[in-house]
Amino acid sequence: MNYKIDLHVHSNTNPHAFSTIEENVNFACENGMEVIAITNHGPALLDTPHWWQLLNIKILPEYIKGVRVLKGVEANIIGENGEIDINQAIYKNLDIVLCGFHGCPEYHKNQSIEKNTKAAINIIKSQKIDILVHPGNKEFPIDFEKVIKIAKENNVAIEINNSSLSGTREGSEIRCREVAKIAKKYGCYLTVNTDSHYCRLIGKTDLAMKIVEEIEYPEELIINSSVERLNNFLELRKKLRVKEIFDDYIEKRFKY
Ligand SMILES: [Zn+2]
Ligand SMILES: [Zn+2]
Repeated sequence: MNYKIDLHVHSNTNPHAFSTIEENVNFACENGMEVIAITNHGPALLDTPHWWQLLNIKILPEYIKGVRVLKGVEANIIGENGEIDINQAIYKNLDIVLCGFHGCPEYHKNQSIEKNTKAAINIIKSQKIDILVHPGNKEFPIDFEKVIKIAKENNVAIEINNSSLSGTREGSEIRCREVAKIAKKYGCYLTVNTDSHYCRLIGKTDLAMKIVEEIEYPEELIINSSVERLNNFLELRKKLRVKEIFDDYIEKRFKY
């Protein structure tokens, strides 16, 4: 079974994705999706446009063709102490903040598990993010036990990413299963998303759902398993999220 809510969808404002927001919405609408979140990459990833793109997502209506469109981002961890590659102007308008490790000039892959674990723990504790995406990525090894325990304590959701399992991130099957098992042990919020970079992939989470179903993950903890659960999670996160993030990466990178 696939859920009708996909909280990790890219549009072609990042050139390695291939569909417009309109194409994403059309496919979502035709396939009975209730909610999608547009979550383009933060500007530390090299394949991104000027940061105004993320800023201007606020012009989207809440519903398009009956599909609720959440305004989001997939931001990057760019340091060990909770640093993120968006600024307050972007942050304050977002419905949902995804964040994770991606190879970028500020944070390279294949670093020590100690460094990555510290970085993941600190971004979660900062309360700037709602979802830690694809934590099973072996290019950024983390101590799953330590990170997921902190995620539970801070009400941050952990993602099982279908794209990782369909070949994007090698070795993900074993690692994502491990992530899901540990998350279940701690009673952590979980989310199952496509990370779609092409409209026709939206909502198709078969490989991730297989893991979640096999380990019998409690559905009440899966934030995108129903609109009610999603709304409850977003309400909770609205209260917990910091009001000011004070990050200056964008101001340093983009000279006006
Ligand atoms: Zn990603
Ligand atoms: Zn993504």
